[in-house]
Amino acid sequence: MESEAHGQKRGDGERRGRGLSLLSGGLDSRLAVCVLREQGLEVEGVVFASPFFKLDSARDAARQLDVPLHVVDFTRDILDLVEHPPHGFGGALNPCIDCHARMIQRAGALMAKMGFDFVATGEVLNQRPMSQNRRSLAIVERDAALSGRLLRPLSALLLEPTVPEQAGVVDRSRLLGLSGRSRKPQRELAERYGLTDYPTPAGGCLLTEKGFCRKLADLRGHEGFGEERLVWLLLRGRHFRLPGGVKCVVGRDARDNAALKAQRSSADVLLHTVDVPGPTALIPGAADDASITRAAGLCAAYADCGSRPAVTIRMIRGETTEEQRVAPLTKEQVLPWML
Ligand code: SF4
Repeated sequence: MESEAHGQKRGDGERRGRGLSLLSGGLDSRLAVCVLREQGLEVEGVVFASPFFKLDSARDAARQLDVPLHVVDFTRDILDLVEHPPHGFGGALNPCIDCHARMIQRAGALMAKMGFDFVATGEVLNQRPMSQNRRSLAIVERDAALSGRLLRPLSALLLEPTVPEQAGVVDRSRLLGLSGRSRKPQRELAERYGLTDYPTPAGGCLLTEKGFCRKLADLRGHEGFGEERLVWLLLRGRHFRLPGGVKCVVGRDARDNAALKAQRSSADVLLHTVDVPGPTALIPGAADDASITRAAGLCAAYADCGSRPAVTIRMIRGETTEEQRVAPLTKEQVLPWML
């Protein structure tokens, strides 16, 4: 776990307790921090890192709110849930109910370790039809097993009082009773707290994007999620499943090409053009000769071959480098392999 001290802990006001607030960077998570701090509570943020969720917005929010941000590696947790989601998926491969519960559970472990009084979230009752209805919030609460220390400041007045409220650590009368899909109350609160710069509500989680989930489902069905490197690779390049089952990733630009080179392990095959500008391609893992030849034709298909009938492709496998003259495959040939 990393911690990023974007700001000093607040030393002003009456400090009656310490809360650890899930800070994705969305407006609701920012407002939850504001509502708690307004009554003198000390609040720190926590965010969960994985290949599926960028941390930029959480870091912006921590800077904006001047709160320390704890970053917890969540990759193995979310991969396990994508493989076995006890409460199923949303519209794509997003196991939102289980993901929320696991994040809150991990935050609970941090709460216990670092002496916080409670975990808070920016969840709003009935804001999302599947993952934030009363039943889902109750499931998350039960599965996260925080023994009454999970506080939802934006909807608290519509939910049972939590332990910190009952103990007087948190003043329930200064929490809110928001419910529903309208964003108007949140916009008004943002204005009141001087939050002018915040992202639009549109997700940001790759597990909700169908195009990305096609690649993820293909990985789950072939190589599986045992090697996290292969999941990170999904963020780079064009992905192909070649006839015979070998996977090949072709860089789209110089950044992709550099990333593919950097991610090569000794068992992989790396290919690139020699005599014309073109992409780098990576076969992660072992491959037979026929698949490597196909990958070379694929690599050439995305190169600037002009009218050349063949180009030279360099293939690096372990310590061995060889070059082959290869005829570029046509787009019609390669598109059926694209994920
Ligand atoms: S949108 Fe993604 S990060 Fe958010 S709860 Fe769902 S699966 Fe988890």
